[in-house]
Amino acid sequence: MVPNVTEMRKLLLIDNDPVHAGIFREALRCATDGPFVGEWARTLAAGVERVSKKCIWAVFVNLTLPDSRGLETFFKLSLAAPEVPALVLGRAQDEQLALEALRQGAKDYLLEGRIDSYSFIRAIRNMVERKTAEETLFTEKERAQVTLNSIGDAVLSTDIAGKVDYLNAVAEKMTGWSRNEAYGRPLAEVFKIIDGDTRKPSPNPLQLAIQENKTVGLSANCVLIRRDGYESAIEDSAAPIHDRAGFVTGGVIVFHDVSLSRTMTEQMSYLARHDPLTNLPNRVLLEDRLKQAITASNRHGTQIALLFIDLDGFKHINDSLGHATGDKLLQSVAERLLVCVRSSDTVSRQGGDEFVVLLSEITQAVDAGISATKILKAIVAPHEIDTYSLCVTASIGLATYPADGKDAESLIKNADMAMYQAKQEGRNNYQFFEKGMNVRAVERQSVEENLRCALDRNEFLLHYQTKVDLRTGKVTGVEALLRWQHPDRGLVDPSQFISVAEDCGLIIPIGKWVLRESCRQAQAWQDAGFPAIGMAVNVSSVELRNEGFLESVRTILEDTRLEPRYLQLELTESVLMRHPMYTVPVLRNLKDMGVRLAIDDFGTGYSSLSYLRQFPIDTLKVDQSFVREIKAHTDNAIIISAVIGMGRSLNHCVVAEGVETVEQLSFLQAQGCDEGQGYYFSRPVAAVQFAKGICEKT
Ligand code: C2E
Ligand code: MG
Ligand code: MG
Repeated sequence: MVPNVTEMRKLLLIDNDPVHAGIFREALRCATDGPFVGEWARTLAAGVERVSKKCIWAVFVNLTLPDSRGLETFFKLSLAAPEVPALVLGRAQDEQLALEALRQGAKDYLLEGRIDSYSFIRAIRNMVERKTAEETLFTEKERAQVTLNSIGDAVLSTDIAGKVDYLNAVAEKMTGWSRNEAYGRPLAEVFKIIDGDTRKPSPNPLQLAIQENKTVGLSANCVLIRRDGYESAIEDSAAPIHDRAGFVTGGVIVFHDVSLSRTMTEQMSYLARHDPLTNLPNRVLLEDRLKQAITASNRHGTQIALLFIDLDGFKHINDSLGHATGDKLLQSVAERLLVCVRSSDTVSRQGGDEFVVLLSEITQAVDAGISATKILKAIVAPHEIDTYSLCVTASIGLATYPADGKDAESLIKNADMAMYQAKQEGRNNYQFFEKGMNVRAVERQSVEENLRCALDRNEFLLHYQTKVDLRTGKVTGVEALLRWQHPDRGLVDPSQFISVAEDCGLIIPIGKWVLRESCRQAQAWQDAGFPAIGMAVNVSSVELRNEGFLESVRTILEDTRLEPRYLQLELTESVLMRHPMYTVPVLRNLKDMGVRLAIDDFGTGYSSLSYLRQFPIDTLKVDQSFVREIKAHTDNAIIISAVIGMGRSLNHCVVAEGVETVEQLSFLQAQGCDEGQGYYFSRPVAAVQFAKGICEKT
């Protein structure tokens, strides 16, 4: 099939020589790369006019024409149609001229005298091949260009000397350099990278890629600084570019912005190492810091202290006032802890109401005690949360390195153990770890296990201790004191198990039993004809806060038929102090029922007179520690007279606990103290013995 004329390649010969025109025509007819169509113009003007029409595929132009001579002929033609490839025909003696035309862009040349149809054919074939190659290259380049500009990655390349020779659109945007501006500049000027951590310039990855002739990744945490100073975190790689022989001719860097993912990674790693509620380091980060501190301590020969802090009675606040308030209290505690330590120390939250403070450098263990005191004080001050003024205390256990543990894990464990000891010691205090605590912790565990079956096995009993009127010497009442008849250990004092029972909640059923048994006994004595006296029963904070408490007091009084005025509940000062807005209504209800109330261990808390006024209290029991120290003119003597005066001013009955000697008795009498209780009068005794005693006296 004969191809359409428009599809045929049109070749134009601009030459005044008809012989050349004949050879040209003959060559086109024989050329196998065709089909070609030949056109002939005799002058440059005619040729220029023809090529301007834009469908000439290639031109053969003789440099010597009637209207133009020499190189000028070529120049004029290229000016008119720069995109049309031109071959020049020159005279044999003008080969230099033809060569110059070649340098100026002519594709080939033929010299007169040697022109035959074969040389035309060969020239045409060369041109076809070259054009095909150029077109393929163009298409490929175009494709690469489009690809490079449409991918999300930035691409930048340099020559072997490290001078920039290419940037794609993304690279232009990220570096702030346009391709033209960047061209020929050293890589370091266009592609400025630093280490995000040290802020020092990062090594140029291309240099390494070229040197080692392999692909290399950018260093981690690499930050690119844009021309205007804007910084973006980047990630990626550099690779050498080779020529056909395999020699390195330059390099290419491909990079992309990872700011977003790096921020996300940072956020995630922050979350994994911090407590979201308080923003404090969590268990994981604490362990890291502790390990670092241990290494540093070994190097510098210093000591470390670990303070395990647990809030006392936090669960109750959470349960009664709600989690939102509980959370705010934890945040408030966290803030106070931070104020108590140096910035080089770590305050962490372990979860719940447990915090651990790491003092990374102390000179002596006593320093840790000073910090613990500071922390206890800071926590105890009321926390203003929402409309509440919340009072909370803490128990702190201390362990030091290297004395109390060789690694992070054992230090934390031992500080925790010491914290338990602080709870045992009555809370709101700190304890240093001691070797024996391990044994005690195990013991505690076994106490808890045994306590669980003690009620069912009827192992509890009550002892009774009299209270005496200091003016008349008459028995005014009796206090019920719990004892545990342990199958192996014998009679166990409450100090050994009450706090365990409180912690595991067993205090509720045990407390109910005590209340029922003591009321039953009081009524039984009355029924037996003994003079009616008050029965004092100790109530722990856990019981008082228990929802069913009021109801069980009422039921027990009804069941045992004991008149409420003969029941006196003893509450410690700290119980009242801790949650006044919760306890005051409960106390009012008890008062309305007719039950009497006493503050036990008075003087060991921090109550002020104005504070005490809000509680509907009948009796103040001065703690035995004051009584024990009674010697004239000591501080305690002054304090005890102040306390007695305080009780009087509030119209309370004042009872001194722990009266053991006649000196103490006379001092108390002289001070006008109302009642006394202690070994001087009677030890706590079993019910039968008590009844016997009363009988003997009456
Ligand atoms: P408390 O209520 O202050 O009871 C007084 C404690 O002092 C009793 O110890 C008693 O035996 C002791 N005591 C009495 N007179 C003297 C004295 O002259 N010298 C000395 N050195 N001590 C004296 P006990 O029975 O070991 O009770 C200790 C604490 O355990 C009580 O302190 C009370 O807070 C608590 N407790 C006792 N029974 C119960 C109970 O049924 N329920 C609750 N929740 N706590 C109880
Ligand atoms: Mg008591
Ligand atoms: Mg007491």
